[in-house]
Amino acid sequence: MVIRAVSRLVAALVVLVTVTVSNPRAFAQPAQAPLDPALVDDLVAAYRTLASLNVLDAFGHVSVRDPRDASRYLISRSLAPESVTAADIVVLDLDGNPVDKKDEGKLLYRERFIHGEIYKARPDVNAIVHSHSPTVVPFTVTQAPLRPILHNAGFLGLGAPVFEIREFQGADSDLEIETPDLGRALAKVLGKEAAVVLMRGHGDTVVAPTVRDAVYRAYYTEVNARLQLQAMIIGGPINFLTKGEAATSNTAMLRASARPWALWRAKALQQGK
Ligand SMILES: [Zn+2]
Repeated sequence: MVIRAVSRLVAALVVLVTVTVSNPRAFAQPAQAPLDPALVDDLVAAYRTLASLNVLDAFGHVSVRDPRDASRYLISRSLAPESVTAADIVVLDLDGNPVDKKDEGKLLYRERFIHGEIYKARPDVNAIVHSHSPTVVPFTVTQAPLRPILHNAGFLGLGAPVFEIREFQGADSDLEIETPDLGRALAKVLGKEAAVVLMRGHGDTVVAPTVRDAVYRAYYTEVNARLQLQAMIIGGPINFLTKGEAATSNTAMLRASARPWALWRAKALQQGK
């Protein structure tokens, strides 16, 4: 009896090992599941919202990590943000290559390495916005650090380091992040804490745990830059948020961002109908 039970167990184990070895993906089913249409809509809404808020113009891009497989992300094919639809969303691996055969040969953003390399370096990040946010640019080329002046921008208290591409590409680059090496260098300057990295003479890249927070943070990075510039014009010392106020506001805003997102998402998806 015992011998029979043991031999059955051994037989079952042999079958299990055989299946696993012959098909290493046998237990990795989630990546095979279809894309969640609500997540695709989130990403489309993020593009259109940031275009309507003048954070993105005809350039810039948004991505979200694939919840089915953390080593992939969703992004639009190379397209102006306002024009993005669900049909334009592609899935890339973290080296910037299309995962699906149907996406091979599509024109992709040249700066997509920003996304893949940050996802590799920051497991806490699930969404990224790269923009040429106009009011932020002056803070990338002067000595004035971008600091939180408004409670909505408390996340700036986590730091806003400046990436100087000359340190990596010399004095003749086009300032764009077009290689994995530059993407890695940018991710390194962003570091393990900050939600924003400024890019000298170029723009910024914002990271967040969700798409809604990435949109929220990209917008309030631009708003904070505008308000800080105005405060600097008035003159005199500026009463910035303390480190503690910035941290508390950041936590509160990660909860509160659901409200603007509900409005922005609905309006953006209405536009496309
Ligand atoms: Zn750019």
